[in-house]
Amino acid sequence: MSSVSPIQIPRRLPLLLTNEGVLLPGSTMRTSVDSARNLQLVRSRLLKGTSLQSTILGVIPNTPDPASDAQDLPPLHRIGTAALAVQVVGSNWPKPHYTLLITGLCRFQIVQVLKEKPYPVAEVEQLDRLEEFPNTCKTREELGELSEQFYKYAVQILDAVSLEERFKMTIPLLVRQIEGLKLLQKTRKHKQDDDKRVIAIRPVRRIAHIPGALEDDDEDEDNDDIVMLERKIRTSSMPEQAHKVCVKEIKRLKKMPQSMPEYALTRNYLELMVELPWNKSTTDRLDIRAARILLDNDHYAMEKLKKRVLEYLAVRQLKNNLKGPILCFVGPPGVGKTSVGRSVAKTLGREFHRIALGGVCDQSDIRGHRRTYVGSMPGRIINGLKTVGVNNPVFLLDEVDKLGKSLQGDPAAALLEVLDPEQNHNFTDHYLNVAFDLSQVLFIATANTTATIPPALLDRMEIIQVPGYTQEEKIEIAHRHLIPKQLEQHGLTAQQIQIPQVTTLDIITRYTREAGVRSLDRKFGAICRAVAVKVAEGQHKEAKLDRSDVAEGEGSRERILEDAKPESVSDAPDLALPPEMPILIDFHALKDILGPPMYEMEVSERLSQPGVAIGLAWTPLGGEIMFVEASRMDGEGQLTLTGQLGDVMKESAHLAISWLRSNAKTYGLTNASGSFDLLDNTDIHLHFPAGAVTKDGPSAGVTIVTCLASLFSGRLVRSDVAMTGEITLRGLVLPVGGIKEKVLAAHRAGLKRVILPQRNEKDLEEIPGNVRQDLSFVTASCLDEVLNAAFDGGFTVNTRPGLLNSKL
Ligand code: ADP
Repeated sequence: MSSVSPIQIPRRLPLLLTNEGVLLPGSTMRTSVDSARNLQLVRSRLLKGTSLQSTILGVIPNTPDPASDAQDLPPLHRIGTAALAVQVVGSNWPKPHYTLLITGLCRFQIVQVLKEKPYPVAEVEQLDRLEEFPNTCKTREELGELSEQFYKYAVQILDAVSLEERFKMTIPLLVRQIEGLKLLQKTRKHKQDDDKRVIAIRPVRRIAHIPGALEDDDEDEDNDDIVMLERKIRTSSMPEQAHKVCVKEIKRLKKMPQSMPEYALTRNYLELMVELPWNKSTTDRLDIRAARILLDNDHYAMEKLKKRVLEYLAVRQLKNNLKGPILCFVGPPGVGKTSVGRSVAKTLGREFHRIALGGVCDQSDIRGHRRTYVGSMPGRIINGLKTVGVNNPVFLLDEVDKLGKSLQGDPAAALLEVLDPEQNHNFTDHYLNVAFDLSQVLFIATANTTATIPPALLDRMEIIQVPGYTQEEKIEIAHRHLIPKQLEQHGLTAQQIQIPQVTTLDIITRYTREAGVRSLDRKFGAICRAVAVKVAEGQHKEAKLDRSDVAEGEGSRERILEDAKPESVSDAPDLALPPEMPILIDFHALKDILGPPMYEMEVSERLSQPGVAIGLAWTPLGGEIMFVEASRMDGEGQLTLTGQLGDVMKESAHLAISWLRSNAKTYGLTNASGSFDLLDNTDIHLHFPAGAVTKDGPSAGVTIVTCLASLFSGRLVRSDVAMTGEITLRGLVLPVGGIKEKVLAAHRAGLKRVILPQRNEKDLEEIPGNVRQDLSFVTASCLDEVLNAAFDGGFTVNTRPGLLNSKL
């Protein structure tokens, strides 16, 4: 079958045994040379040889047999391909090896092996003519690259010297190959599409595509998206400047390859731009009468706040674009600040969005990151607008008092720009980089305290104080709002659960200690969950009217008989209740669900020794009662203060001691050894418990004096009295702030008498009537009056015979 070819291959050929597939005539492959035999061949034949003849090798497909010795020549396949070594690349890493680029010329058959070492050389017979294959090279190359499972088959093709035989063998492979290629083509097309997608975007072509929109492949989907985006930009009512930017950006987007990170960035940017409510707003529907009803329905008490909000709304209604101050509700947590904000939005028919500012210390939180920044985002204002989808929502800026400051700039400054009516119609978020008009947004701020609101911000705001609630108010709020809301949330009805007012009072006094109603609300949530389980289990409990409680006048206190089983009902008809009887939550049930009370009133216990007095403190979380404890010991006149105190508080302590020392004789106060020099051989330790809370302010002055007077006189302070007031070195009592919160705290703690500075008397008007009824107030202008009111029977020398001898 062999024919004489115009190019004759040498009759003696060095043999290259390759494991990397079958080289067919006309195809090219790279093969790695690393066996000792082949390395030798390359070195002596290719690297040294200069003639063309020396670069022709006989390539024999070889299947390595791990069992055979690498030194011995393996049994050789009879037919091979003469190949031209086109390129030799050598490397030493990871071990010495060469990579050969070889092109198959024609087939040969081994006649005999002439030598085996260092590399085999054989006498060969050329089998094909070289020019027979120019057009089929490609196919062979593909075949040569067939995977291992076709290895054998490929060898057979190599062996099929007759053309007819070779065709027969190749056709099934080609059919397979065509199938494979089809698949491959599909995958390649996707890949190219990805690259093409961006490069090939041409508006004309794209627009022409829209009406058809039949192609469902990715490219078109994506193209459609871009077309949609472009159309949205065109039809958007955004201002001219923004529009220009968008047009510029979409042009850039079209030219960008999709794989560029900037592609996604630009696209997100454009999507945000078209989504923003540049001109979309809701229509205000304000009817002051309806607003009043709505506010009253949603919120019990807080009359001052509601009144001020209504005034604000009325002015807004009369004067359509109010460039007035921003309302800022200041008060402890859980007093309904957010909830009033939400009601304002509801009365106006506006969208509501809350922006939490607590802990924000980076101005880009407000104003966004520039788009050059990786992971850049718009600020919270723009994000909020996108969320609500209108440009005139009510934005509640929550916790403006908790704004931080950092190297990333001052968020308060950015906020100032947002709130300033002179500037905010032109608010520029760094991400957006075009102005957005915020003048239609109604901002309301909330804070726990004004002390930490940046002054420039405070200046823009009208502060409305929202003090804490009295117990009575809390009970009303609970029964009118919190309980019904919780029942609804838990899928319960008033027929399934009943929470009497006494129980609510128990929760308020023994399970919570707060100015607002947030934990109270959570406790109801816990109760509802527990009851929901019982209801779901169908375990109806029996209830019994506890007559003794009625006799106490506390209203009906029903008790759940935990173990009463339905069967026992017939045995005790007087206890029997129909199965649809609601589950009653009394104190026993409360203990079961909420655990033992957290705040048992241990006031009298703590005041059972001299050297303890109760002060009243104002905190951002509301008023609180504060124990002051003192003890004395042998020493050198040192004063130790503990309990996280600020400087002002420490000064009050020194003032108190100085005043007592200078008045020791008047009041008959002595140290342990009976001397009027109170610090003689004596150290004093003053402690303000709840050391985790930093305390400062001058209002503890009177309490420290009372506490020390008790210590040095050995007399007990009345256990039902709390006090507040600043002192001077000469014993005057100066007015202090936060009287309402403090009085409410004393009331919450069940105290009966409150001593306060005379000049604070006017503040008592703010105290709800029922609280005023429960408490007796003593106003004092000097420390003498304070001490007289703090101790049973007063605190003068005359009224305390034998005091001089009292020892601790
Ligand atoms: P704040 O914003 O002051 O921390 P919230 O507005 O979140 O408090 O109020 C906490 C919960 O207490 C809300 O469910 C709110 O409806 C309720 N609440 C507070 N005060 C009242 C009130 N006076 N009348 C009705 N519900 C109230």
